[in-house]
Amino acid sequence: MSTLSMKVMKATLAIGVTAAAFAPVIYTPSTYAAEVTGTVISSTPPTAGSTPAVNKLPKVEVIATGGTIAGQSADATSFANYRAGTLLIADMVAELPDKNKIAQVSTYQFGNSGSSAYSISDLYDLSLRVDQALKTQDGVVVTSGTDTMEEIAYFLDLTVRSSKPVVVTGSMRPWTVIGSDAQANLFNAIKLAASGKTKYFGTVLMLNDEFHAAREVTKSNSYRTDTFITPELGALGYIDEDGVRVYRAPARALLPASTWNTPFDLSKLNKSNLAKVEIAYSYQDAGAGAISSFVANGAAGIVTAGTGAGGISRAMSAERTAAIADHNTMFVATTRTGSGSNYSTGKNIIAGDNLNAAHARLMLLLSLSFSKDFDTIKGWFDTYGSAQVSVPEK
Ligand code: ASP
Repeated sequence: MSTLSMKVMKATLAIGVTAAAFAPVIYTPSTYAAEVTGTVISSTPPTAGSTPAVNKLPKVEVIATGGTIAGQSADATSFANYRAGTLLIADMVAELPDKNKIAQVSTYQFGNSGSSAYSISDLYDLSLRVDQALKTQDGVVVTSGTDTMEEIAYFLDLTVRSSKPVVVTGSMRPWTVIGSDAQANLFNAIKLAASGKTKYFGTVLMLNDEFHAAREVTKSNSYRTDTFITPELGALGYIDEDGVRVYRAPARALLPASTWNTPFDLSKLNKSNLAKVEIAYSYQDAGAGAISSFVANGAAGIVTAGTGAGGISRAMSAERTAAIADHNTMFVATTRTGSGSNYSTGKNIIAGDNLNAAHARLMLLLSLSFSKDFDTIKGWFDTYGSAQVSVPEK
């Protein structure tokens, strides 16, 4: 077992811990963050001790939030029995072989927790931290748990102002087991960020030697290492040895630099103005209660995960109509099928195109944080929320 895995880590158990032996303790990441953040640790000092060749390599900061990738397993063969969010990123990067051949790597411990423990307010802080890092770095890697990684990645995609590469990664097996995907994923994420090939792509998600557009990717299996897929449309590219192969680009990369940025500039938004948006899931004869409870609890918007092309049950539909009439609640219609678009629209109802419900919820949450106007928000969904490609007349 490695030195790192032998170390007794000062860490708090995170939710998402799979071991019955480890009773999960949930803590507020921002509280913990105060203990561990604020220090950028350079594992590749740019001057002293480095060769001139190393000094010319791109600078990549790894911002860590925890997850299985920072997991300490019960023993070397416990693939599913581990403490997520335990190891520190500076130690993990220090263990990574050959990193000095691909980048000048520094680390920043944002928090150390399972992905589901983070609030939207924490993601606001994370996004600002990514932009701060990109003022001096050529790329950023964010490590996180995989459970809500597609949401963390899409939140960053919609909010980070810099066009430099942002790569989100994690792993399905903890750092300390045999055959872990953790080291390879971290190494390849740094390689991808350093390559510069995803500049103007927004945030991409990289696991299992593949990278995907944050807007389109989804976790498809709770244990397999090839869990991340982009339904129907496929990955953007692969990382094979030295070859970072890009086979397609997100629609966003085709936009001119002047319109590339979304309207969601968090530096101009007070955190307390982040809107509350929830998701209501429809199914055969889905009953009343979900939508009205969300509205009663202060939701300004609701995404429906409907059957087929966005249909919802009669009881849900009646509650939606009442919420729009009585509270001006904004709705986005998505499909629970896992892929495909939908076109159900109406007063205060926006078609979520092919966004899945979790992604549409973030798009609506940010939209409602910056505007209350239906037409403005609908316009944002049709542009920044859509990934459809249109090529101008030649
Ligand atoms: N429970 C973990 C998390 O999302 C799972 C993982 O990282 O794969 O943080």
